[in-house]
Amino acid sequence: MVWNKEFECMSPEDLQRFQLKKLNETILWLYELVPPYRKKLEEASIRSEGIKRLEQLQELPFTVKGDLMENYPFGLCALPLKDVVRVHASSGTTGKPITGPYTARDMDHWTECMARVIWAAGVREDDIFQNAFGHGLFTGGMGFHQGATRIGCTVVPTSSGMTERQILLMKDFGADALGCTPSYALTIAERAEEIGMPIKDLKLRVGLFGAEPWTNAMRSEIEERMGIKATNNYGLTELGGPGTGFECIEARDGMHINEDHFIAEIIDPLTHKVLALGETGELVLTAVQRRAMPLLRFRTKDITSLTREKCACGRTLVKMGRIVGRTDDMLIINGVNVFPSQIESLLKDIPEVEMQYLLVVRKKKHLDELSLRVEARKEVYEAGREKIAWVERKIDNHIKGIMGIHVVVELAAPKALKRSEGKAVRVIDERPK
Ligand code: ADP
Ligand code: ZN
Repeated sequence: MVWNKEFECMSPEDLQRFQLKKLNETILWLYELVPPYRKKLEEASIRSEGIKRLEQLQELPFTVKGDLMENYPFGLCALPLKDVVRVHASSGTTGKPITGPYTARDMDHWTECMARVIWAAGVREDDIFQNAFGHGLFTGGMGFHQGATRIGCTVVPTSSGMTERQILLMKDFGADALGCTPSYALTIAERAEEIGMPIKDLKLRVGLFGAEPWTNAMRSEIEERMGIKATNNYGLTELGGPGTGFECIEARDGMHINEDHFIAEIIDPLTHKVLALGETGELVLTAVQRRAMPLLRFRTKDITSLTREKCACGRTLVKMGRIVGRTDDMLIINGVNVFPSQIESLLKDIPEVEMQYLLVVRKKKHLDELSLRVEARKEVYEAGREKIAWVERKIDNHIKGIMGIHVVVELAAPKALKRSEGKAVRVIDERPK
């Protein structure tokens, strides 16, 4: 069963017709209300009437993060703040924060998209949903809150942090579903084991995770340790937060995109050429129903692919694959392209370590040196120096064998690395810029 059959199971023809209509409304809206977009559109010879066929989407100008930063805080907002009922913002770890303004109608659409996300994970009216995404400026907490409220389940807005209390509440209230980042899920699982209350033994059935990169290896780890099924969910502040892509509990192999709200394309990040279904490249998203700050062809920097294969759940919405990396978190180590996610997947093959790791890149003379701090399991660490050195060599050989790069591995003591409560930091690049 889907939340909104009309839009989640549309025929391709109906969908395209709908998208074209909404896209042209958005072009007109931007033309009239957002001067920087009017300029961009005029430069691309797009008139206020918009385009005739959806394929002409390729002729529209891109929007990049820099456009949002230059126009910080509200230069791309189409409406005066009196018509804006909410503003979220991203953490801004890579520069000025990105603002996400919403009209009342945008809020309603966001909530609808989030209800689809949560429903697709099998959460229903009679479930208890513990929402451990950070509540506040970050879009995760409030987005899930609204969607779960619309479904009518019982929401417990714990927000992130105070992990022990999370676990006690989960037990006492009997949570059926948990929402948080995957790295925080692992933190919760581990703490619960430590205090002798493994999540496995609780009622929890499903986890809705997202907001940061993770691998299938990490998914299996969380599923096994918590005794649940886990879905992957995608979104970004620029497009209004979570609610862009979501997995269905039936397939759990790729995220359906709410295509009546977002048109997805994959481009080659260098040539900007649009790629075919199945090809891997940068995800580009166009918001066709937003009013406060609709974006045309926003370059997400997230690397993935799209597929239209039939899904077990009956939705016809296109699916995006797991994010394999971001164009800006790809590490180039002595000329070899490395994504942290590749290393994370390989760690699953090493039973002696935990999925807690940190990559550090440094310049050594003229060469790049990649080191990996990863936590040993307790028994391994206690077995002494020789065993530790053996595991370190084993990891280095495994990574070299598959990725062709040498990694300086340092096995850390159990619990030595900082635990994540939100988005985990996995890479520190200390090379001079
Ligand atoms: P911030 O800049 O504060 O991190 P956002 O919450 O807007 O703000 O971050 C959005 C980014 O988070 C996405 O562009 C993507 O890189 C990452 N992300 C979100 N969901 C997922 C997911 N399910 N898998 C991988 N990466 C994700
Ligand atoms: Zn599906």
